[in-house]
Amino acid sequence: MPESDRVTRMENSEIAAALLEIGELLEIAGESVFRVGAYERAAITIRSLSRDLGDIYDEGSLKALQSIGGIGKSTAEKIEEMLTTGRCGYLEELRQSLPASLVTMIQIPGVGPKKIKLFYDELGIESIDQLEEAAKTGGLRELKGMSAKSEENILKGIAAYHEHHERILLSDAYPLAAKIVGELRRHPALEQADMAGSLRRFRETIGDIDVLASSAAPEEVMDAFESLPQVAEVIARGATKSSVRTRAGLQVDLRVVAPHEYGAALQYFTGSKAHNIHLRELARKHDLKISEYGVFQMPAEKRIAGATEEEVYATLGLPLIPAVLREDTGEIEAAAEGRLPKLLGVDDICGDLHVHTNWSDAMPTIEQVAEAAIELGYAYVAISDHAFKLPVAGGLTPQQLEEQMDAIAAANEKYPEITILAGSEVNIDNDGNVDFDEELLARLDVVAASVHAGFGQDRAQITARTIGAIENPHVEIICHPTGRILGKRDPFAIDLDAVFKAAAEHNTALELNSFPDRLDLKDDYLREAKRAGVKIAINTDAHHAEQLRFVEYGVVTAQRGWLEAEDVINTYPLEKLRGWLGRGSTPSL
Ligand SMILES: [Zn+2]
Ligand SMILES: [Zn+2]
Repeated sequence: MPESDRVTRMENSEIAAALLEIGELLEIAGESVFRVGAYERAAITIRSLSRDLGDIYDEGSLKALQSIGGIGKSTAEKIEEMLTTGRCGYLEELRQSLPASLVTMIQIPGVGPKKIKLFYDELGIESIDQLEEAAKTGGLRELKGMSAKSEENILKGIAAYHEHHERILLSDAYPLAAKIVGELRRHPALEQADMAGSLRRFRETIGDIDVLASSAAPEEVMDAFESLPQVAEVIARGATKSSVRTRAGLQVDLRVVAPHEYGAALQYFTGSKAHNIHLRELARKHDLKISEYGVFQMPAEKRIAGATEEEVYATLGLPLIPAVLREDTGEIEAAAEGRLPKLLGVDDICGDLHVHTNWSDAMPTIEQVAEAAIELGYAYVAISDHAFKLPVAGGLTPQQLEEQMDAIAAANEKYPEITILAGSEVNIDNDGNVDFDEELLARLDVVAASVHAGFGQDRAQITARTIGAIENPHVEIICHPTGRILGKRDPFAIDLDAVFKAAAEHNTALELNSFPDRLDLKDDYLREAKRAGVKIAINTDAHHAEQLRFVEYGVVTAQRGWLEAEDVINTYPLEKLRGWLGRGSTPSL
């Protein structure tokens, strides 16, 4: 393919964003939930693909796009158009018919498309600012179905929106930044390049994307950066810094430093601020000064280090502190005393204990899950579909679960290289009970339990029902324990101290759900759970075979929680896991 075609091609994230926008505009326009849902599902699928849509299309054109689960013919045609022309006529038509700012209003918690349409039709409200003004001055309460109370709720929703939406998910920032860094590294004038800032520390959400590079020819590197195919516009350009906005709407800042200053600059721009302040105080006690340019012996200001991060830390007698730990939560003290954790890595993960299939509300077959898990080098994978008390997610009845156990046994015959565990994601009801009788639960390999309703319950109730499930001898894992969805839903009012205590006592694991908008338990809570003696399961909750790869986001979050392999049950080889689960060796056969 000619080079010029390649560079103008839209990326997966841009195509997903376009499809999502189509769904949102259709929703505001009052289209059927089926049409709206189809675009949303396609966007979610595309976001989790590990391959470029462009490559898939090159291999097998329209047909190959349609063979990706969750993408129908008309969506595939729109993707084809975007890949070949860089635009989507249908989206442009929709945008013409409605103000684009209406789409952002959909992200305000509690404000759905119907209300947005009502405010627009009746009051001409087109933006969040206009909506806020109207709610503050009592301008909405006269509308049909509205009241002073609903104005209050809208103001709360707007506040929550502002709190969440100035930041982007790690999963949106990381693949883009990795690509940019990868492309920069191919430039002949470049010496080194890395992500920096909160992205390099793998925080769950990111402000702007920071990239650091070293080169003797910064101008050339910045020129190359600004002409990357992902870049839509250059926002600012200085002697050593360039800021751009990508076509997906993200801001990326590139700084180019001299090679001998790279380590000091990388240390400085990785942060966190609190870590850097603490480190610099420590330096002062050693008569040193650490800046973004190097480490200097005071008072003469003689430069003694700065080319590498290792050097910078070594001047203080410290080992290199992993970027994920640099939050000033004790990592500097731990480094000084030689007790930094031996962080687990993706390679330590032996399997996934929370995956859905087309038996409930997900895309893949049991076989597709098995094949994806084999590709990741796993020793085991648990099929844990929803149970019947969650009918909206196609929960399995007792009889269906038994049929599925037979299907899993058959799949185990077919794939001797992996063990497919028969599991279930049961629902924790208001009294702490779960779906299925004890006899059936006992025949499974692993049971995970979740709160899927009653999110707004008070602290006492939501804690009591979760502890009820923890105490159930047939439940081994509590999934997404706080229920939060980043940018959409706050965590439950749950008393985690009580939950940790109960989980440690009953030897029930808590999940670190790796889905990028969950990451639940979050980093701080993981650390507290570990201190309380609780085991963690790093699962993906995949609803698409590609999403098994989300485990990477779980692992970096676990690192931020100071977890080591022994803390995480799915780093255990199969027999050790079986021993921990306490269910004997071959119950599913
Ligand atoms: Zn769930
Ligand atoms: Zn699930």
